[in-house]
Amino acid sequence: MEGIEEIKARIKEVLPAEAEVTKIEFEGPEIALYTKNPRAFFENENLVARVASELKKRINIRTDKSLLKDPAEAKEKILEIVPKEADIRDIKFNDGFSEVVIEALKPGLVIGKEGSTSKAIILETGWTPKINRAPTSKSDILRGIRHHLHKYHKERKEILKNVAKRIYKEMHINNNYWVRVVFLGGFREVGRSCILLETNETRILLDCGINVASNKEPYPYLDALHFPMDEIDAVIITHAHLDHAGFVPYLFRHGYKGPVYCTEPTRDLMVLLQFDYIDVLVKEGKEPPYTEQDVKHMVKHCIPRDYNEVTDIAPDVRLTLHNAAHILGSASVHLHIGQGDHNLLYSGDIKYGFTRLFDNVDTKYPRLETLIIESTYGGKQDIQPNRQRAEQMLLEIINETIQRGGNVLIPVFAVGRGQEIMLVLENFYRRGEFNGKCYIDGMTAEASAIHTAYPEHLRESVRRRILQNDSPFTSEMFEIVKENERQEIINNGGSVIIASSGMLTGGPSVEYLKALAEDEKNALVFVGYQGEGSLGRKIQTGTRTIPIMAKNGKTKALKINMRVETVEGFSGHSDRNQLINYVKNLRPKPKRAIVNHGEQSKAISFANFISTRFKTRAIAPQNLDAKRLA
Ligand SMILES: [Zn+2]
Ligand SMILES: [Zn+2]
Repeated sequence: MEGIEEIKARIKEVLPAEAEVTKIEFEGPEIALYTKNPRAFFENENLVARVASELKKRINIRTDKSLLKDPAEAKEKILEIVPKEADIRDIKFNDGFSEVVIEALKPGLVIGKEGSTSKAIILETGWTPKINRAPTSKSDILRGIRHHLHKYHKERKEILKNVAKRIYKEMHINNNYWVRVVFLGGFREVGRSCILLETNETRILLDCGINVASNKEPYPYLDALHFPMDEIDAVIITHAHLDHAGFVPYLFRHGYKGPVYCTEPTRDLMVLLQFDYIDVLVKEGKEPPYTEQDVKHMVKHCIPRDYNEVTDIAPDVRLTLHNAAHILGSASVHLHIGQGDHNLLYSGDIKYGFTRLFDNVDTKYPRLETLIIESTYGGKQDIQPNRQRAEQMLLEIINETIQRGGNVLIPVFAVGRGQEIMLVLENFYRRGEFNGKCYIDGMTAEASAIHTAYPEHLRESVRRRILQNDSPFTSEMFEIVKENERQEIINNGGSVIIASSGMLTGGPSVEYLKALAEDEKNALVFVGYQGEGSLGRKIQTGTRTIPIMAKNGKTKALKINMRVETVEGFSGHSDRNQLINYVKNLRPKPKRAIVNHGEQSKAISFANFISTRFKTRAIAPQNLDAKRLA
């Protein structure tokens, strides 16, 4: 790959003199051109496209500092140019980037037809708009992150410059190019997913998670890294769940200074979950492995990527994220390594089946040699009922319970199952099949609000409703609960309670369980994966007396007399058949498969099946094993 100076020289060659480019800057994997004549770029539509396609990179056109209008004046101008209906909520100026960040409820109207409104903003004010969608209901996390990125934008620019140095560093001439993966967590288990991808040039971490269901071994084997943290070139995160992203702030606490590549919603949702993780530990009197400060540090290093956008992240590695249909922003990671020496696909958590939230998972890739695939439900018995039956079962349990005056507790992952179940219930409600109240407790409401800021990531039917200001997440049937209202809801009976955490490992779902468990009128319904060792798994598999901490600090036995049900079919994971179909339909067919993210028996069973059925060599390695790929 070319170095920074060579690329700069090539850009100058492509650009005509009237472009009047005064500065070329590398912002991580992107390139910013500062011009004294932005008109040249807009009147000649091809110019930006030509540079971008010549370089295969995202190109940001910014104006030279001399053209920037005073922010107060510019703000007035922007409000004049943009139609009122855009409903602008916030305007901030990042002078380091010659950029104005506009948050609006209808960002399409700030962009205008074929970008006309955005261009008018640049030409009239000098500032390049970066447009964010405002969520339809309040999200403190989203506001906090956006504010933080603005406040530290100059520092962020320095970070991006350093990232660029790393991406374009000179490769050592070496005839013995090699590629290997080292399995640091999440192999023959679910939780603490972490993989080191290493070549003789580059070191990349794929996911860095925590096993929240385990007290003994919650963290990945980072102590097996044979180099300091700051020699990691990049971290790539598939999605926000703690078992994939929960340990990232720890890296920064211990010297990592590089980029975190993920989708924009993944950035926001992982912050939400990491903050909550710290919170839960502190409330339990335990010491968290990192602080809120480390999380904020991580945010500055996040480089969001869109699906299908090809990005050079190291001299010998090119990254593309693909839709994984698991939770908002979830991605499968495709890496093109070396001079086409090797192509690796890491599925992350995938749903190869219908969901109300997302479009179908991607199965087409330009090239593919090695597949790393999850196997949460990869065991022979792991066949889920179809969605219609699952929804019908849930409805029956809810209505039976409510008729006898009981409450239905559904513990959910705040991100993912929470929203999927909300959409299912909202659909019952609209069809008149369910008339009760549904209470949302814990982070689910906040996570839902974040969903409304990224409708382009959602299935068309949901996206349309959010854009038409009819978000299903803010339906009148849902009520968000404050802590001091819980007792009243419990006493009243006759409602559905959606509460995190999903595996009863802490948070409001456990509080409700304590209050509801002993009365047989109530029902507990599991709709998501229950990790080995979690309280949810224990109850699911028949434990009916559990020790809990009473208010006086003493342990007492809690009897589970409530109805306990598991409704399969809502999972954000593929069941065995869906996993098999995914492998079958992947194009091109991988030469090798490595199975992770499944309990020992499931990972092994699924690997064996792939080997015999598809004649793709498949293994289910253990943590700390390594595999050479090229
Ligand atoms: Zn997940
Ligand atoms: Zn996972």
